[in-house]
Amino acid sequence: MRSIAVLGSTGSIGRQALDVIAAHGDRFRVCALAANSSVEALAVQANAFRPSVVSVGKREYVEPLSAALDYEPRIVWGSDGLRVCAVESGADRLLAATDGMAAWRAVFAAARAGVDVALSNKEIIVAAGDLLIADAVSAGARILPVDSEHSAVFQCMQGERSGDVAGIVLTASGGPFWESSFDEMRKATPAQAMRHPTWVMGAKNSIDSATLMNKGLEVIEASRLFGLTGKQIEVVIHRESVLHAFVLFRDGSVKSQLASPDMRLPIGYALAYPERLPSGPGEQPTRRAIGLGGRATALAFEPVDDERFPCLRLAYDALARGGTYPAVLSAANEEAGRAYLAGKIQLTDIAALVAGALEAHESRAVSEEAVAEADHWARAHAHAAILAAAH
Ligand code: MG
Repeated sequence: MRSIAVLGSTGSIGRQALDVIAAHGDRFRVCALAANSSVEALAVQANAFRPSVVSVGKREYVEPLSAALDYEPRIVWGSDGLRVCAVESGADRLLAATDGMAAWRAVFAAARAGVDVALSNKEIIVAAGDLLIADAVSAGARILPVDSEHSAVFQCMQGERSGDVAGIVLTASGGPFWESSFDEMRKATPAQAMRHPTWVMGAKNSIDSATLMNKGLEVIEASRLFGLTGKQIEVVIHRESVLHAFVLFRDGSVKSQLASPDMRLPIGYALAYPERLPSGPGEQPTRRAIGLGGRATALAFEPVDDERFPCLRLAYDALARGGTYPAVLSAANEEAGRAYLAGKIQLTDIAALVAGALEAHESRAVSEEAVAEADHWARAHAHAAILAAAH
């Protein structure tokens, strides 16, 4: 029986993870649940899964949560609450499915305590991935990717030596605006931007997918997880989202992983690793898994259009420049995305805001303190630029 702590349990990945855990109750139990402000949904989850620790984002949510629970777990809150979930709940594996940097201290605490981390929260690995991986390696903890493309690379790497990898290719669906003109993208409403063609995701990921910044963050994430340079990582558009990544080996051989676009597979792989979970009774995965819904199909790939989607190039730049540039890219992007959702800027302004922050930033060598400062600086810089754009 493996004990799982879930940070971000009421978000898209958190809810799908609880589906997986509920379907495999013989293998997993939930020892901690953490959500930010969705107190009612959290209480329903806690009453069902009975974790011994439950965490909320703010102290003022403790009262209403406790009133909605039909048992008495330890209730914690804030960033220390996340840390308690990670290292004081008896977790064998932590699922980090929060957005942004909220859980980064908790994720570091888990890795340092030797707790395996199933990592969905890409901002943390983008901003401070090298530090996290070094800490995890020295404590004997695994960092297991939940992102579908990185799970695909990780699966292709099983039984291989990392020194034999020549490069990888991450696929991108292209998001809701792949067929749109720049002008249509400029006028796109948040509701249009949230309508992803293939994946079910939360708001942050949906906006990032619409600008392709999601793929940019994934390039940096992959470089950290697999020890690759930006030059070794390519991105291609693959509208069907069936083939998630290719791994190219030095002898010229190529491996890839294919599966239907359903996050429950990579989530389940990260929770169960090194085992694989059986699919449910009655499921016939073979044809569905490769998107072959009873008719002939083909897998298509096309190059990325840098003109309409400048965010991807910004991410490659930040990766090449190193230091605290990736932290600034991620933080400025998060604030710009939030401003777009609030109707303060246009979708196509996001790239310019991020580019402006990268331009103005003075990078430092990466340390926890430098990353925290760069994150703070980038958010303030983005806020000032958003205010200036609104006047
Ligand atoms: Mg992904």
